[in-house]
Amino acid sequence: METLENSTHIAEQYQKVLEKIAETAARVGRRANEVKLVVVTKGHPVEMIKQVIETGAKRLGENYAEEAVEKINQLRDYSGVEKVEWHMIGHVQSRKAETVVQYFDFIHSLDSLKLAERYERFADQFNKQLPVLLEMNVSGEESKFGFPAWDKSGWDKLLKDIEEIISKPHLTVCGLMTMAPYFENAEKTRPIFRRLVELRSYLKQVFPEIAWNELSMGMSSDFEVAIEEGATIVRIGQAILGPRKTT
Ligand SMILES: *Cc1c(COP(=O)(O)O)cnc(C)c1O
Repeated sequence: METLENSTHIAEQYQKVLEKIAETAARVGRRANEVKLVVVTKGHPVEMIKQVIETGAKRLGENYAEEAVEKINQLRDYSGVEKVEWHMIGHVQSRKAETVVQYFDFIHSLDSLKLAERYERFADQFNKQLPVLLEMNVSGEESKFGFPAWDKSGWDKLLKDIEEIISKPHLTVCGLMTMAPYFENAEKTRPIFRRLVELRSYLKQVFPEIAWNELSMGMSSDFEVAIEEGATIVRIGQAILGPRKTT
């Protein structure tokens, strides 16, 4: 992938991604505004974040609490940043839960009851209502985080923890998130995204009081397949900002 050094490139790539999102949605009879874009800024400097905000990005995704906090603090006085939502998309260690609740607006990567308990405690303390997604490992890849959900026959084993999580008064469970393994051929991610959609239907039946509206799935390499399968949030980094300096 070419290096994208200036703001013109970022603006162009951003527009291109928006167009692809719209085209893909239209192809399967969905509206473009049913798919929200999170621009993943992990591994990119604050200068690039400013450019992408200027270009119109409304939601920024970060994976590491410390890296994100540093950037958020540096951007404090930057005009435009107050309208931006910060999305935590990476695995969070328990001891970082407090920082994450303090600095983030939306959490994609809730992957354990233990973490939910920490989030609940700090959200209560900071008097915050925290929207979260449950991260599901539907691919079975060992390196992936998330509740173990690759085997349908084991889905009922997840229900006890999920029931506890949705009962937390300061957490609003909005849906599910997953990350597919990287495949040269994006088509191979399709069964993985389908499994997440199926899991969502199952959870909807068991817990009809929860809307389960959001499906956060799809990245630079596979977002079109994810949108075809029903993604409502795509998390895109490289296709807009180019290769990362650090990860
Ligand atoms: C890094 C990352 C992304 C974005 O990946 P790109 O290939 O840069 O689009 C999306 N989701 C998660 C969870 C990530 O860690």
